[in-house]
Amino acid sequence: MTDVIQLLPENVANQIAAGEVVQRPSSVVKELMENAIDAGATQIKLIVRDAGKALVQVIDNGCGMSETDARMSFERHATSKIREAKDLFAINTMGFRGEALASIAAVAQVEMRTRRATDELGVRIVVESSSVKTQEACQCPAGTSISVKNLFFNVPARRNFLKSDPVEMRHILDEFQRVAMANPDLFFSLHHNDQEIFHLPPGNLRQRVVKIFGEIVNKKLVPVQQETDILKITGFVGKPDYFKKARGEQLFFVNKRFIKSNYLHHAVVSAYEDLLPEDAFPLYVLFLDIDPTRIDINVHPTKQEIKFDDEKLVYNYLKVSVRHALGSHNVTPTLDFEQEPAFQAYPTQMPSLRPEQEQPASVGSFRPRREEDPRHADNLRNWQRLYEGLDLAAKTVEREPGDVFSGESSMNFEVRPSAENTAMDDESGSFSKSQKEPYQIHGQYIVSHIKSGFLLIDQQAASERILYERYLEALGNQPIATQKMLFPKTLELPAADALLLRAILDEVNKLGFEIAEFGGNAFIIHGVPADLSSVSEETLLEKVLAQYKDNLELELGTQDNLARAMARSAAVRRGQLLSVPEMQDLIDRLFACAVPFSSPSGRNCFITFELAELQKRFGG
Ligand code: ADP
Ligand code: MG
Repeated sequence: MTDVIQLLPENVANQIAAGEVVQRPSSVVKELMENAIDAGATQIKLIVRDAGKALVQVIDNGCGMSETDARMSFERHATSKIREAKDLFAINTMGFRGEALASIAAVAQVEMRTRRATDELGVRIVVESSSVKTQEACQCPAGTSISVKNLFFNVPARRNFLKSDPVEMRHILDEFQRVAMANPDLFFSLHHNDQEIFHLPPGNLRQRVVKIFGEIVNKKLVPVQQETDILKITGFVGKPDYFKKARGEQLFFVNKRFIKSNYLHHAVVSAYEDLLPEDAFPLYVLFLDIDPTRIDINVHPTKQEIKFDDEKLVYNYLKVSVRHALGSHNVTPTLDFEQEPAFQAYPTQMPSLRPEQEQPASVGSFRPRREEDPRHADNLRNWQRLYEGLDLAAKTVEREPGDVFSGESSMNFEVRPSAENTAMDDESGSFSKSQKEPYQIHGQYIVSHIKSGFLLIDQQAASERILYERYLEALGNQPIATQKMLFPKTLELPAADALLLRAILDEVNKLGFEIAEFGGNAFIIHGVPADLSSVSEETLLEKVLAQYKDNLELELGTQDNLARAMARSAAVRRGQLLSVPEMQDLIDRLFACAVPFSSPSGRNCFITFELAELQKRFGG
């Protein structure tokens, strides 16, 4: 038998390595921008076409390369950043593997122009599928410009695997913003298809945060600054009254390298203690500086994860630092919802359930005006009675929403919502009318009688389903009526969100908004959906955009995504108390839906309980 093992040809090895390093256009963005930073550039310009699929170009004014280095930079494991194994444990540059350029050049058409300030002439090198096509002297500014064209042109399977332009662009924006955030002292710009999306002059971190997240965060930033011998923490966290319901404004950097860490996220969130509602995301941009010998950044090839030698210590220190920052800026007063007088005045804000709810969005006829409802005062008293001493029960169930038969929750059934409701009004002595009425438990579920038993309806899932179908219709051919605003409002969005909104503006307007572009990243709101006019227009729009971004990965297509996002944002929430007519209306509409069984994201809208089955469970 002959021997069968052979070394792979260089270009094949490079392509395999590229599988790790280059996942999508945004990976190229990250690698090229980090190289520019390592090269000591003070100005870094990113140019992309077709969400990076046609072109990713980074132009820097850094140190440039000699002709030999330029040629060498495309070799695998060629790096100027470490020399020996021990350097691996003290890395101060973004790159160190010497893999990026070799990998990129294996799966794209790459053109590099580079010149050191001291050289008269620069060099131009063109590499395609790992082979050098051109190498020649050229006139060019000092620094380096690298263009990466037609990524994966030679790997059709991977090219086809790329997501739609909005998704890929989203990833590029994320990478760009992270690098720009970590280096506020440098100039950055970003052009996409000839449009300038970011222009970030050098400044301090606060200015950079505001440039990227938008002017509204300026008054919401609390500085964090703590230092010990081994760890330094600097940056900003958001005040507790500023948070989002979705991820997006949370950034950790360890030695200027962006990292993802649920563990550290938890540390920050827990520093807010009760100041934040459950599943709210506070803003933070935090820099941890730590002796490089105490961390291992080698864990993952794309280097977003990191290992600390004492993770617990970092956790605690981070938590204390954030807590201290919030405390010393006097943003930790007792936000004691139990004492809020609003409790008395507005029963939909049941404090013990979900203190976080901003005014919940009411939808169309779901919520008749309460002051016109004669039972309102009565109900309120009863609701209060109902919840007295039941905080604990409500909270328990909150954690285990599936467990509706738990001991505590059954207590609810012992208290009737109103005296009138307990009356037997039927001569035949069968169920009273009220007992056939739908009944809400824990502000989350609706019990509805059916002949063979009862349904337990998840009010939020049901409401999302109803609205989703309605919005899809609206996007088809029945736009929703607009309520004109007396005073149009301008809205300045973060650049990334502005880009998104411009792309879907026509559709958004079909949902009842009347929004026009106002130059730059500004928009002017002339009107809002008529049936949602009670909700703050900014909040609604912000929620819709956040949801829309979250859904991008699902590749739903604009209309489906937007209908989902809008439905999610406008739906009746868990924790929102509903009157009987509201519940009835919700049930009627749910069963008029094409697909009443599940919410657009796949949650069950209701569960059926058969009497026969219940009897069996009781041993009957
Ligand atoms: P690494 O960054 O891990 O060293 P790369 O493949 O990204 O590996 O780059 C290889 C080498 O090419 C770098 O070590 C650096 O010497 C050089 N290089 C890459 N980009 C630039 C740039 N923009 N300016 C100057 N030198 C660069
Ligand atoms: Mg590099």
